[in-house]
Amino acid sequence: MSYKVGLYIRLSKEDEKCGESESITNQKSLLLRFVRENCYAQFEFYVDDGYSGTNFDRPDFKRMISDIESGKINMVVTKDLSRLGRDYIGCGEYLEKYFPAHNVRYIALTDNIDTTLDSSQNDIVPFKAIMNDYYAKDISKKIKTALLTKQKDGKWVGGCPPLGYMVLENDKNKLVINPDEAWIIKKIFNLALKGKTIYQIKEHLNKEKIPTASILRGARGNSSMALKGIWNAKTILNILTNRIYTGDLVQHKKIKLNYKIKKIVSNPKENWIIVEDTHEAIINKEDFRKVEELLNKNKRIKKKKEERLLDGLLYCYECKHRLSICTPRKKNGKSYLVCNYYRMYSKEKVCTSHAFNYDNIESEIIKLIKEKINSLDIKKINLEITKNSDKKDDNYIKKIEIERDKKIKYLDKMYIDKLDNKIDTNMYDRISNNIKLEIKELEKILELEIDKKDLDSNSEKTLEINRELILRLIDKIEISKDKDIFIYYNFNH
Ligand SMILES: [Zn+2]
Repeated sequence: MSYKVGLYIRLSKEDEKCGESESITNQKSLLLRFVRENCYAQFEFYVDDGYSGTNFDRPDFKRMISDIESGKINMVVTKDLSRLGRDYIGCGEYLEKYFPAHNVRYIALTDNIDTTLDSSQNDIVPFKAIMNDYYAKDISKKIKTALLTKQKDGKWVGGCPPLGYMVLENDKNKLVINPDEAWIIKKIFNLALKGKTIYQIKEHLNKEKIPTASILRGARGNSSMALKGIWNAKTILNILTNRIYTGDLVQHKKIKLNYKIKKIVSNPKENWIIVEDTHEAIINKEDFRKVEELLNKNKRIKKKKEERLLDGLLYCYECKHRLSICTPRKKNGKSYLVCNYYRMYSKEKVCTSHAFNYDNIESEIIKLIKEKINSLDIKKINLEITKNSDKKDDNYIKKIEIERDKKIKYLDKMYIDKLDNKIDTNMYDRISNNIKLEIKELEKILELEIDKKDLDSNSEKTLEINRELILRLIDKIEISKDKDIFIYYNFNH
């Protein structure tokens, strides 16, 4: 039989953080070696970069399935089983049913699985699949610990390194000086040491057409090429205040609120992870300290700015950049909004000002949020769930969790019974579908309970709209040039 091979590659963001072994390049070279060694001339790559294995809703996976159906391929190869998926019920269905029904041979290279070979090796499939499923649940915790350990060891885990540095090809956690960029950093610090203000440095760099990071590293984002070549004050300030240029690593400056909410907030300074002299310095510590002093002198002494309820959440609907809240210096002056992109490049007319009165916008938004919360009717949903337990505490959540785990175990057992032919496929399908539905229901209840617990602990008796609640509820708010308000919530509704 001549094989037409589909080489399937998947990488999720989580996998990426776990190290090199799962990288696209690594998977690709492994799979290429396989087709070469076996002299398969017809093969096609399917790559889902940035997709989790917990479901099969991935564009290239779907393309592969449609190629199987049109007869374009009749063999599927992955590096290991978890590349196919981390949901063991779903994986089992492909391995046990779908692939055989379509005469497709499936091979998981490093797991030694080959569906055409009647080897005892294949018996481990369900267990491998269960492990992969478990792994997906556990992975976020593992990554966090792994990242923290690396940060404490003074290893760079920030991804793309700042201008002036690059990572070693064989050690992505090690920063080294990038000679093509470091001169720019030195130039900026030298100008600052001469007493130039941020504004003067900006003008100087733009006049001399000194390339920016976006020019040097290739364009990203949506602004035009011309704008990418223009230095702005914020970037220069970030460079002049970044300790990384003295050879120290300062990490863990931002954290996630919790595993359910993607919102990232600043970590208090005392919790930062600082490791000194982890890499070669571009600027010596003495010069860095001098610049720090000079910057403080140049800076107007700002009175401590009070934090506004919606700080950091407001964005421009038209250009997607942040809207700043400007507070006038004179007393009783009204705060107003301004689109940062507009402000930064006002001459280029890239956006409009969006200069609305902040307090009016804030009360409008609070009104919308209150309406939203009322419409959710969280209380009513919870009453139904907790009919039998007035005490809606951790015990209740535990009970539901135990119930769910019981059902999962039962499902596992059934799956194995099916493989052992103790029950037939029809019966398995019928019963397992019901159990899966029940598990889904329980999981929904759990999610609601946990959400509610979060809400309860934040909002004593009456629902007061405070900063913390806002950060938990809302991802971002966009305001259009016509003053329309778009609120993006952190939860499904
Ligand atoms: Zn704008």
